Amino acid sequence: MPRRPLVVGNWKMNGTRASSLKLISEILAGLPSDARADVGVCPSAVFIPEVANALQGKSVRLGSQNVADQDQGAFTGEISAPMLREFGVSLAIVGHSERRAIYGETDALVAARYAKAIAHGVTPILCVGETLDEREANKTFSVIDTQLAAVIDLCGVESLSQAVVAYEPVWAIGTGRTATTEQAQEVHAYIRSKIADLNADVASKLQILYGGSMKPDNAAALLSQPDVDGGLIGGAALDASSFLAICLAAN
Ligand code: PEP
Repeated sequence: MPRRPLVVGNWKMNGTRASSLKLISEILAGLPSDARADVGVCPSAVFIPEVANALQGKSVRLGSQNVADQDQGAFTGEISAPMLREFGVSLAIVGHSERRAIYGETDALVAARYAKAIAHGVTPILCVGETLDEREANKTFSVIDTQLAAVIDLCGVESLSQAVVAYEPVWAIGTGRTATTEQAQEVHAYIRSKIADLNADVASKLQILYGGSMKPDNAAALLSQPDVDGGLIGGAALDASSFLAICLAAN
């Protein structure tokens, strides 16, 4: 059974209340009704309630850019999976490289966030990927092994049947530098084979997204790779026509 494509926009800390509503209404207006690909958007957390309203009765999924590793309590600044669920959030990015690099999130913390998403029926989008130094030192696969092992050790390989993985080479995020189709396919196939060693069924159904300067002009080639099941889109997700063009390429 072919895996269903998934395209998710990560709006990061961009936009205003008004521009977020404009963006979601343009996306909704432009999506074909017979689209094969699933589509999701991750607005800034403060705009989630209004974007959730706009998405009432629509098939576009609502995502969060992170999720707490706790359910409630004295965790200033965090937003828990049950809170997100109240607003219809069904996706949560975990382990984005900006969280790992800028805010020091460790593999253990990322795994704890992932576990809470799973426990509350929110699909984690687990981001993995190497820096340029790690790639040049031939450490790409070992970095990904460690990042995957953190969640598998905590939650078991079966948890990946309720998750999505995003391969995001750090050197390609927001840089305009994209992995070649061969580089992306090589790592996606590696991720799938590592998981298949533990559970072939989970591996064959797992959606593995590519993220890193995916744009309308490179999306079709990346998405045509056998193990690339969609995209996690940063910059191009802030422009409705670019995002829609990528969604169309995923169809
Ligand atoms: C991202 O931040 O997840 C991302 C893929 O960003 P960009 O598309 O801008 O490289």
